[in-house]
Amino acid sequence: MRVFTMRKEITEFVTENLSQKKIGFVPTMGALHEGHGSLIQKSASENDLTLVSIFVNPKQFGPTEDFSKYPRTFKDDVVLAEKCGASAVFAPTVNEMYPPGFSTHITVKHLTDPLCGQVRPGHFDGVATVVSLLLNLARSHKAYFGLKDYQQFLIIKQMAHDLGCFTEIIGVPTVREQDGLALSSRNRFLDEDARKLARAVPAALAAAAKIFKDGERQAQKLISAAAGVLATHELIPQYLELRNAQTLKEAGAEITEPAVLFIAQIISKTGTRLIDNIVLSEENTALLDELLEKVHHEK
Ligand code: AMP
Repeated sequence: MRVFTMRKEITEFVTENLSQKKIGFVPTMGALHEGHGSLIQKSASENDLTLVSIFVNPKQFGPTEDFSKYPRTFKDDVVLAEKCGASAVFAPTVNEMYPPGFSTHITVKHLTDPLCGQVRPGHFDGVATVVSLLLNLARSHKAYFGLKDYQQFLIIKQMAHDLGCFTEIIGVPTVREQDGLALSSRNRFLDEDARKLARAVPAALAAAAKIFKDGERQAQKLISAAAGVLATHELIPQYLELRNAQTLKEAGAEITEPAVLFIAQIISKTGTRLIDNIVLSEENTALLDELLEKVHHEK
């Protein structure tokens, strides 16, 4: 597996291969886990070559956020990427990505307004800017993004569509631990107690999923089911919202179209911020069942 650090290396690699080979691209911030692994594996199964980028993007962290503390595990990342089928890793420095004089910022409107856009001002501008730069460098046929970051996925799809991007944007389902907790690079900050408490997040989603499966369609009841679980653990979410799965507009009183229940929860003991979601739709029964099984199994 090749490791590149310079923009021009990835450009050369892609230029050499683009005409004969299908290229898949998986952008990450490193500290790779099996969630990233599933994106890399999916890309490797659908393409001849898979590029993985590892770049902790300062533009998407607010001034009080954890940019400097974000986990960096480069050696292990390279091993995992290779094991999952990556052909090359691109790990640039901040200066290589944003050399002096870098002046372009991408803003996607509307989809960035609610949820993480509310509580992390500027975050999605940083994401959109780095992803559009990475997509331009990688020029891949497909790029893979996790549905754990559901809002991010919709924003990137919108951006790629608006900008006439060559790359097809693919969403990949959330990989969860045995007890339902979504894998995240930040989970390593959870100590034993915080890790136990973190189970409440998938359990809250599962409570809503359960009544949805049983036929409940009243938005307030679905939200209350999840809120009840968090409240039992004395957790106050940063947000807990039910929104339309395409537009991210607030779901009406009764959901008649696919909706997504979103949670952002700070686990206060360690200050770790977790986000998770579940798509409530009649077509999503396999993922609802997986979540319910994992959460139920741990009770
Ligand atoms: P990050 O390194 O956190 O920026 O994530 C890189 C990519 O991996 C993003 O597209 C994430 O949505 C995706 N990802 C992170 N965690 C998971 C997970 N548990 N399951 C599936 N994809 C994930």
